[in-house]
Amino acid sequence: MSTPIEMRTEILGNAVVKKLEGRYFEAYYCPTAKEALEKALSLVPEKSSVSWGGSMTIRSMGLTQAFHDGDFNVIDRDLGKTPEEVADLHRQGLLSDFFITSTNALSQDGILVNIDGTGNRVAAMSFGPKNVIILCGINKVAPNLDVAIARARNVAAPINAFRFMGKTPCISTGICHNCTTPDCICAQVLITRICKPAKRIKVILIGEEFGF
Ligand code: SF4
Repeated sequence: MSTPIEMRTEILGNAVVKKLEGRYFEAYYCPTAKEALEKALSLVPEKSSVSWGGSMTIRSMGLTQAFHDGDFNVIDRDLGKTPEEVADLHRQGLLSDFFITSTNALSQDGILVNIDGTGNRVAAMSFGPKNVIILCGINKVAPNLDVAIARARNVAAPINAFRFMGKTPCISTGICHNCTTPDCICAQVLITRICKPAKRIKVILIGEEFGF
């Protein structure tokens, strides 16, 4: 028997999936991270080249490790030993068959919002990899585009800034100050309104809180 929270989450999740499909994304709702992981793996044929962005969601749910364990040609930027090697792996990832990432926010009507420092992740979302798979926890769904942008800027970006501990004002206050400091991690802001070509981006919405 589902709890009221699970019932509400499932109705919301399936409604967002319909909105995503209306914008030509391929979209799925999975109640748990385990089901989402299985769905993601089912979308990627063996021997495919697979790369990913700096998402905590896909790491903490075990998806990056599952690709390493499977029969895939993995391009893992985490294995770069120098900044030059990491940059080279970022470039290789842009030609992968499948690029795996999360999103910083998703509006209820199916628009993705993402902020990037290096730019490799938003580049891959826009163009390059043949397919993009996005894993998104239900906590990242926002009621509209304005709230989604605010979430990406004031929640996801400052938390990401703490991962790198550069000299940015959000490290002191926990919210965005729209900075232009040399250490700023918010160089690019990408709003993905529709998926073109259709179904290139596959969004898997997880009915659990995942990532930030
Ligand atoms: S203060 Fe700067 S680094 Fe921090 S979230 Fe805002 S733009 Fe990004």
